[in-house]
Amino acid sequence: MKIGIVGAGLGGLLAGALLSKENEVVIYEKLPIVGGRFTNIEYKGYNLTTGALHMIPHGADGYLAQLLKKAGCNVNIVNSNPDGLFRVNKKNHPYKNIFNLVGLKDKIKGLKMAANLKIGKVDKDISFGEFLEDIPLALDIGNSFTGWALSLNAYDTPMEEILEITKNYHKFGGPGIPIGGCKGVIDELICVIKNNNGKIITNHAVKKIEIDDKCYINPGENDGENEEEFDIVISNLSPKLTENISNVKIIKEKEPIPSKGIKVSIGCKEKFIEHNGVLFTPECERINGLNCPSNVDKNLAKKGYNLIMAHATQIKDNVKNEIDIVLNDIERLFSENNISNYEILHIQTYRDEIPVNHASNGTDLNPIVNDKLYLVGDGVKGKGGIEVEGVALSVLKVVSEINKIK
Ligand SMILES: Cc1cc2nc3c(=O)[nH]c(=O)nc-3n(C[C@H](O)[C@H](O)[C@H](O)COP(=O)(O)OP(=O)(O)OC[C@H]3O[C@@H](n4cnc5c(N)ncnc54)[C@H](O)[C@@H]3O)c2cc1C
Repeated sequence: MKIGIVGAGLGGLLAGALLSKENEVVIYEKLPIVGGRFTNIEYKGYNLTTGALHMIPHGADGYLAQLLKKAGCNVNIVNSNPDGLFRVNKKNHPYKNIFNLVGLKDKIKGLKMAANLKIGKVDKDISFGEFLEDIPLALDIGNSFTGWALSLNAYDTPMEEILEITKNYHKFGGPGIPIGGCKGVIDELICVIKNNNGKIITNHAVKKIEIDDKCYINPGENDGENEEEFDIVISNLSPKLTENISNVKIIKEKEPIPSKGIKVSIGCKEKFIEHNGVLFTPECERINGLNCPSNVDKNLAKKGYNLIMAHATQIKDNVKNEIDIVLNDIERLFSENNISNYEILHIQTYRDEIPVNHASNGTDLNPIVNDKLYLVGDGVKGKGGIEVEGVALSVLKVVSEINKIK
């Protein structure tokens, strides 16, 4: 089959790598670079990123890692150990010790809640915030987790998603960092696609997708030079952007709600974070957590320095104020560790057409639009799919469906 893919983000490239083994694949990317929100940007000797924090939510064993292997990619993902620590009262605590920080009554309540969550014995129709709100510290911790992993407040996170995430966590474990960072993954995908004779065309914005008996990308373009016919089209754009440029109605009921975030990249000589997991910060006003990917791959930072990445869910619309709150959090955290000599390398906000997720968890659409048009990416994540794991789930579903047609 001849398959046209619109967009060379992680979703488009992963689908391309898996399908190019047995099909003719052409990928169109509007930018001069590929990888979308999952690749590196070199700056002052550091490898910053276009979006992600160089972290894969279920590490070397999750959905993404499995599909990368299946596609023939050789990516080395180093699992985090510990998965995460929680900074409470100026100290970093492992999850298992968290309930020692509350009174006996709340400790018993909290342990019961954690046990019920593990076995799925909870009301699926409430939010995670409602589930946690009886214990203030549990709510703060829940908010730091959903803020870091989903860019959502716990009250905006459906319990059903948390149950699926918990299942995935017990199945695959916590996060990991790929050697080479995000670009380590993207470079391998490009290599596989090219080895399979797939084509990646950059600087080529797709303006129109037409689905009829056949599928057309950019039909009627000037002299027809850019027009191409396919058996199937996969769009790596959001459902809304895909609908805007195609002749197919995609959003039939609820429109996906994007999630917004702020990322700050920090360079620092001192070891602010000693481990390769997440430092969750439930007591910060905005920052949900930080990581230090250069603890896994020192080439991600300038020689002799560390790259630290902080993420915050954007709560209010005034971006400037939100950034100020985030910077205050950073200043407080670093001064608590007696570090004054750090450099803010980059502050990025993610909203509108480039959000953290095109669909916040629980608002994703079905990736299969019809038997000719398919969607991949973070507007169509599978249930319980955290970020790129959700992107991988969308690709898994689409590729399995296309293979069935064959
Ligand atoms: C601040 C931040 C932190 C994050 N942290 C993490 C993390 O640590 N771990 C994690 O797992 N995930 C993280 N994520 C999420 C992750 O980055 C995304 O889920 C993932 O990269 C999305 O991939 P995608 O393929 O869906 O879309 P994209 O990366 O957006 O790819 C879409 C591609 O389509 C191209 N395109 C758009 N329009 C057209 C057109 N008309 N024609 C041709 N091409 C077009 C775009 O240029 C882009 O390259 C983070 C995201 C952000 C923003």
